[in-house]
Amino acid sequence: MKKTIAILPGDGIGPEIMSQTLRILKKIENKFDHQFQLVEGYIGGSAFEKYNSHFPEITKVICAKSDAILFGSVGGPLEKAEFPKWKDCEKNSILALRKTFHFSSNIRPAKVFAELKEICPLKDSIIGNGIDIVIVRELLGDIYFGEHLTYIENQLRKAKDICEYDEKQISIVAHQAFRMARKRNNKVTSVDKANVLDTSKLWRSIVSEVGRDYPDVTLEHMLVDNCAMQFFIQPTQFDVILTSNLFGDILSDAAAAFPGSLGLMPSASFNEQGFALYEPSGGSAPHLAGKNIANPIAQILSLSLLFKHSFELFEEADIIEKAVQKTLQAGYRTKDICIKENEGISTTQMTDIILSHI
Ligand code: NAD
Repeated sequence: MKKTIAILPGDGIGPEIMSQTLRILKKIENKFDHQFQLVEGYIGGSAFEKYNSHFPEITKVICAKSDAILFGSVGGPLEKAEFPKWKDCEKNSILALRKTFHFSSNIRPAKVFAELKEICPLKDSIIGNGIDIVIVRELLGDIYFGEHLTYIENQLRKAKDICEYDEKQISIVAHQAFRMARKRNNKVTSVDKANVLDTSKLWRSIVSEVGRDYPDVTLEHMLVDNCAMQFFIQPTQFDVILTSNLFGDILSDAAAAFPGSLGLMPSASFNEQGFALYEPSGGSAPHLAGKNIANPIAQILSLSLLFKHSFELFEEADIIEKAVQKTLQAGYRTKDICIKENEGISTTQMTDIILSHI
């Protein structure tokens, strides 16, 4: 297979976990005789230094000409957030990138590897044989994109944020969730607040309509407050969770606690045409940068998602996931997933061992 991939390492730990991930990509490329053209672009603080812009035109062109985007992370130390290089960096780069390519749905797997049960904050009896959830979140609608207003009325300070959805926005992300369920365990739990909100009532009707196109997938509806509770009582009941932007923002961060480290969590964002960006769920972790101690697994699993969802290279994706699993089974840990303090192997060593299983 011949494909072009835009590679955007970004800042902080981004470049070092990306360079390790590209070692995995090269091995898969050789093993399966693929031809991947990798075109690297600057984004975030590193782009600002070179082009005086967090998301320069040249990077936009690289992404537009690619078949998929593999992204690292952007942003600087929080105490330097007002420095020109870092001011509004995330907003001007990753958020602008999502907007430019209309990435309207985000998927975030939250998995508890059986080997890493000890770093999951839930009890063994609740984890059972492992938690394996994918959250599909709408990204371009909801209260974040409606009108925001702060004003004074009758001498009282007031504020309002308008929550809006149209049927097309809901239908696009719903199809995404049902397609995802078909590649997994054929169950979608759609999460809303339909007992109160009109937007949720519309959400529920459209999701039910879309669900009729997927008779092989079981659809259930759940109120968001109940879902938050079920996360901690019986998380193993979920396969694919489909939800709106605001609820998804909160639930996906709650689910981020399950694996035990952001360094294990990949994610992907899709537009209506299926073009996608793949990135770790975490940020640039500036305090770890340059030390060769960051966990490369989230970035490596983002590559596996890219193979699976953008190129339909299922065997290649599976080999990467199994290699990660075997590495964890063998007891190898970077610092973030190591229960013994001041221990853990390096980013490079972790990748060496994953590579040895491919
Ligand atoms: P962060 O995700 O960088 O770090 C949060 C915690 O997770 C830290 O303890 C960090 O050490 C840990 N962590 C994250 N990835 C890890 C990995 N691969 N290996 C080991 N540990 C890992 O979030 P933060 O500290 O709030 O933000 C740092 C910078 O990242 C900020 O500038 C922020 O704006 C930016 N950020 C960028 C993105 C993005 O690029 N999409 C997302 C979130 C935050």
